[in-house]
Amino acid sequence: MITIENLEKAYDDTDPPTSVLKGISFTIDKGEFISIIGPSGSGKSTLLNLLSFFDRPTGGTYLFNGRETSTLSDNELAAIRNKEIGFVFQSFNLLSRATVYENVEMPLLYSSSIPEKDRRAHIEKAVASVGLTEKLNVEAAKLSGGQKQRVAIARALVNNPNTIFADEPTGNLDSVSGAQVMEILETLNKEGHTVILVTHETKTAEFADRILKIMDGQLESDTPVKHKRTTKEEFIK
Ligand code: ADP
Ligand code: MG
Repeated sequence: MITIENLEKAYDDTDPPTSVLKGISFTIDKGEFISIIGPSGSGKSTLLNLLSFFDRPTGGTYLFNGRETSTLSDNELAAIRNKEIGFVFQSFNLLSRATVYENVEMPLLYSSSIPEKDRRAHIEKAVASVGLTEKLNVEAAKLSGGQKQRVAIARALVNNPNTIFADEPTGNLDSVSGAQVMEILETLNKEGHTVILVTHETKTAEFADRILKIMDGQLESDTPVKHKRTTKEEFIK
């Protein structure tokens, strides 16, 4: 589903340019649950931003669902992003003055694939799947951090994307809220979504089936998680 080969990224807003990803190759199959780990500054967010079409690589190839993406226009990439990808940020990125409903509705305003008359049902379903039905008409500013991140997950889900990316989704949360978020991502994966998560915490990473470790812009290891997954209880301990 995702194949990258010798992927490179250099930021040219510095002189000399900052080479961040130095030729990374791997394949992720449909339905996998992947953690990308590595120390701060190793290039994890850069990699996730390339995989989710926020940014373009400066070298190498990226095949998404069998399509070579380098020749696609910005509009074509935006269309793939909107239909096939949901993204969850560390800092939630909600509109704080808007309600839960309005925040989750946001991606639908840019999408023609769901007819207007069906939108409410999609929004309510996404909000229910993160357990926040009773907060539907509450302003985002009035929610706890954990609730905000669950709203952000509902927003990522509302277009029913096949792939969900999350960059340090538990980074701003206490351990109980973090465990709830990880449980939701785990459930979404069991329901068939591909989940690709960035974290610098081993315990969070071990919710996944496979861990890709990035060091200094290169893939250091690609390891299946053999033992039982981290459970919510172990996470909180
Ligand atoms: P991580 O998420 O693993 O902490 P990042 O991908 O955010 O790492 O950053 C990797 C390196 O790229 C860092 O040295 C960072 O300073 C640099 N970097 C990130 N974004 C930019 C940018 N827009 N311009 C220049 N350098 C950047
Ligand atoms: Mg980062």
